[in-house]
Amino acid sequence: MKAYDIVGYVLHECDVFCTDCANHGYPIFAGSEWDVAPACDECGDVLDVAVITEGSSTPPTMMCQGGGAG
Ligand SMILES: [Zn+2]
Repeated sequence: MKAYDIVGYVLHECDVFCTDCANHGYPIFAGSEWDVAPACDECGDVLDVAVITEGSSTPPTMMCQGGGAG
């Protein structure tokens, strides 16, 4: 897995999909850093991204978690 491999896409700024369930949208790269590994909204697959658990100074701009029905 290369850091620039696309492992999924973000649609509507909030919804995360794996590459099996979407083929367009804002690309999520394997090397992108997340506080929590995003899971595909469609099939539930957890995307293989870089999860950072500490030292994060600036959260990603597309954090939409924490509300709504799951
Ligand atoms: Zn999926």
